[in-house]
Parts: sequence; structure tokens; C-alpha cells
Amino acid sequence: MKTVEEPLEGAAVLAERVARAETVVIFTGAGISTESGIPDFRGPNGLWTKIKPIYYDEFVSSETARREDWKRRFAFRDQVAAVEPNVAHRAIARLIASGKANAVITQNIDGLHGRAGVPADRLIELHGNATYATCLSCDARVELDEAEAIIAATGRTPRCACGGLIKAAVISFGQAMPSREMQRAEEAIQQADLFVAVGSSLTVQPAATLPMIAKYEGAELIIVNAESTPLDGLADRVLRGSIGTVFSRL
Ligand code: NAD
Repeated sequence: MKTVEEPLEGAAVLAERVARAETVVIFTGAGISTESGIPDFRGPNGLWTKIKPIYYDEFVSSETARREDWKRRFAFRDQVAAVEPNVAHRAIARLIASGKANAVITQNIDGLHGRAGVPADRLIELHGNATYATCLSCDARVELDEAEAIIAATGRTPRCACGGLIKAAVISFGQAMPSREMQRAEEAIQQADLFVAVGSSLTVQPAATLPMIAKYEGAELIIVNAESTPLDGLADRVLRGSIGTVFSRL
């Protein structure tokens, strides 16, 4: 493992390793969006230093928990609507457009990779997308504005015509991971010779197993993150510093 502490030097290393690679897979976490203005969870100003997460079982069993969940979803919707994809989101979208990268696997729920131009067939949102909602029973899509209008009109959290609970289209703590998305991620990794993990504390499972799978499959592993992660020892290069700076040469 070689750690590059100086971000501009890291930018040169990343540009060189990407240029040499045949197929890159990009894996992102909350850290890629902090420079757009969306706080991460576990960094020094992370959300979990301020509020407690709502678990899936609580959402399903308690109207009070659902109300609180929706309140947070509407606040997040407004926060995301007010920000733009940053230099790193855009650089990654260019890697996809040029064919250099085959997929973006993200833990993020903010939709910023899509807004930067990554098409749906190249974007694997492991934890879902908080910019819309779905029915937990029949999977029908519901827009957040519609859900908000129902709560305002009825005083109750929304239910689908089929009777199912409607919930933001994200994977909550305690909720099963979508097996289709994990399978797509593993397929993308099998075709790649370079895996770049960006802005993730690499502590959330099973997403954090993906860099290990990439290494096992023979890919080079680069970690771009401000803080150390449990997988630094496995990486070929660890690039420290601001993600925007490290992605500035791509
Ligand atoms: P995390 O919060 O656990 O870790 C983020 C990492 O990024 C930290 O180690 C932090 O030091 C680093 N970081 C933050 N800003 C950086 C910057 N500008 N430059 C370099 N490094 C920076 O994030 P995670 O590993 O993605 O796990 C968090 C979970 O929370 C995920 O499941 C994700 O779904 C969710 N989440 C999503 C968003 C979002 O969609 N934007 C925001 C918060 C949390």
C-alpha cells in the first residue's frame, strides 16, 4: 500500500492509473457529495453525530416513526434540490461517457450521479434513491410531493391503493439489500481492472465487501478518502485529501 498525502500529487496518480487501466469501476460514498453541500454520516460533521437513524421495523410498525421519517425525507429532498453535482461527479460522468468506466456503484441516495449525466444502465444505487418513493408491497412509484400533499390533507402517512405502506425508495437500517443491485455490482467488478473507492468510510456492509471482491478478482484498488478506512491496508494506493482536488486532473 502506498499512501499519497498531498492531494495534487494524488490527482496526478489517479489520472495516471485511470489512463493505464482498461476498464474502471467507480464506487462512491457520502464523501463525494460533501463538496456539493450534503453532509456525510460518519465524517467529523456527519449526520449520526446529531440524530438517530430510523430502522425499517420501526417504520413498518409505528405511525410516529413514519411521520418522523417523512419529515426527514422532505428536508433531504429540499437540501438535494438546492445543490449541484460537483467536479468529481462530473469527472466520473465523463469516464462513463467515454467508455473508460463501465459502472458507478454508489451508496448515495442523493441522485447526484444521475444528475451529473450517468445513465441508469451504468448507475447502481445500492441503497436506493431518496428523490422518490415506492410502495413496500407492489413497488408502485410515488413522488415525494404527492406523499407530502397526502400527509397535509389527511394527517396520516401515505398508503398505496393496494394497501401497502409508501416509503422513500431507500434501504433503511435493518432492511434487506436489493439482490439485483448487488449482482449488477459484482458483474461490473468482474470486468474491471481498476476499482476506485471514493468518499466512503468503507464500514457499511455489504457495500464495503465490494472493494475486497475487486481485489480478489485481480483488480488494482485505489481508495480516495480524507480519513483512513479499514481497507487501506488492502489498497494499492490510498489518496488523501479533498475529493474535488484528487479528481481535478481527470
Ligand atoms: P460515510 O459518511 O460513512 O463516510 C464518508 C467518508 O468520506 C468519511 O470517511 C469522510 O472522511 C470522507 N469525506 C467526506 N468528505 C470528503 C471530501 N470532501 N474529501 C475526501 N473525503 C471526504 O459514508 P458512506 O461510507 O457512504 O456510508 C454512509 C451511508 O450513508 C451510506 O449508506 C449512504 O447511503 C448514506 N448517506 C448518503 C448520503 C448521500 O446520498 N449524499 C449522505 C449521507 C449518508
